[in-house]
Parts: sequence; C-alpha cells; structure tokens
Amino acid sequence: MSLFSPGNKRPKYFDAHSHISFPEYDHDRVEVYDRMRMAATHTITVGVDLESSKEAVEMANGYDGVYATIGLHPADNKKEVFDPKDYTELAENIDVVAIGECGLDYYRIDEKDKKEKVRQEKDFRAQIEFALEHDLALMLHVRPKSGTMDAYHDVIKILKEYKTLSGDKLCGNVHFFVGDMEVSKELIELGFTLSFTGVLTFTNDYDDIVKETPLDMILTETDSPYATPVPHRGKRNEPIYVGAVVKRIAELKGLKEKEVAKAVVENVYRVFDIQN
Ligand SMILES: [Zn+2]
Repeated sequence: MSLFSPGNKRPKYFDAHSHISFPEYDHDRVEVYDRMRMAATHTITVGVDLESSKEAVEMANGYDGVYATIGLHPADNKKEVFDPKDYTELAENIDVVAIGECGLDYYRIDEKDKKEKVRQEKDFRAQIEFALEHDLALMLHVRPKSGTMDAYHDVIKILKEYKTLSGDKLCGNVHFFVGDMEVSKELIELGFTLSFTGVLTFTNDYDDIVKETPLDMILTETDSPYATPVPHRGKRNEPIYVGAVVKRIAELKGLKEKEVAKAVVENVYRVFDIQN
C-alpha cells in the first residue's frame, strides 16, 4: 500500500470563506482549529488589507487544512491603496489560493460620492490584474445598495472586460452571494462560483437561486466571525458551522448532505487550484 494517497487529505466540509486569523479568535484559535479537525472541516481564511493578509498567510502556513487569500476589501480599510509591490512576496506563498476579498461595496456609500466608486474600481482592477499575473483565483466581495443590484452590475461589466482579454485564466468565487437570479446566471456564465452562508438558514430569499444554481458552481462558507447560522445565532461564528449551510442546500436541492458536502469540496479544489 502506498503511503502517498492524495485523496486522504480531502476534508468532509469546506468553509470557503472565513476570517479565523482575525483578533476575534486570538484567545482560542487552537480550540477553534481542534474543532475543525474533529469535524474534518477545512477553510480559507481571508485577508481584507495588507496587515490582515499577512496574518492570514501566517496562519495558513501554521495549520494544515487552512489556506489564505490576500488582498484589499473595497470598504474595510479605505486608507490603504492596493499596491502590487506590497503583495508580491505573499502571492508566492504556497498556501495563498486567491486574491481578495476584493470587489465593489456600495452598501454604505453616498450616491453623490462619485470619488468613492472610482477609488473602489481602481483597487478592484489592480487586484484582478494582479491575480491574472500570478495565476490566482479571485475572492470577490460584492455588496449593492439596498434594494438594488448596482454593485453586481458594475462588477459583471468589469469581469466581462477581463474575460475577453484573459479567458478562463480569470476565475474565482463570489463570496456571500446576495444577488438576484439574473445576476447569479451572469456570474456563473463568467465561470464564477457562488458561495452561500448561514443566511440560508434564516431567510428564504435565496432558495430559488440555490435550486437553480448547478451543484458544481456552489460553494459553502461561514464568513466567520459574522453571519452565524441557526441554531447558533447570536454566538461568534466558526468554520465548523458550515455544516448547517450544507444541510440547507441539500434540503433545497433534494440531495443527500454527503453528496453536497463532497461536491463543494471538489469545487473548492477546482476553483482555487488546491493540490492534494
Ligand atoms: Zn469576508
């Protein structure tokens, strides 16, 4: 029997977007990780600026089954300007699987603040180009203004431009999907997976989209420490709760939980090019 058995390293669940390198876990990170190991759950811990990207990479390097993304969130740290030079060394790290979370976030911006949209678009384009240059996927954050799909429409327009230039090299996942049916179809058409959170456990708003989205284009995530699913609402979220998201998707699609969990793991390995 060969000792090298690549399939063995695959987890049961994959939380495709968490922030377990954030300070919220400083006091009990080892215990959170132990619970992940017991539940055979892997995760991608996501950076939101240079500082947190460095911490994400450091954590990924120290824990098996934890991967990292590096990049600048559109609204979390408005003082930073994305500079590829700052991120080059990190991008070459073995555990870095994507650039982001990057994208457009119009949720809190003033309609009259044209400068803010320009600022976000500039950082977003710089990160798309950086991802293409380093052959990495994108972890997208897209949040529209309430009652609109504005940020999604702008992101789709920008992605289409790069798709024409770079084809399938442009790839990634749209984290915390809150778009409508039309937007979901356009993003899938562009080759981007959609990831769903614990929100599925307490609203029916995305039920139809989950039913319509092909299983090979769905990822599951917790966005820990945020968005805790039922029955853990009110507590800090952690990657092991991703099982609740898998369960809800299985119910909606009329599939076995095991089948959904396995498909998600395969999807994550494909999108982020994770080697066994
Ligand atoms: Zn996030």
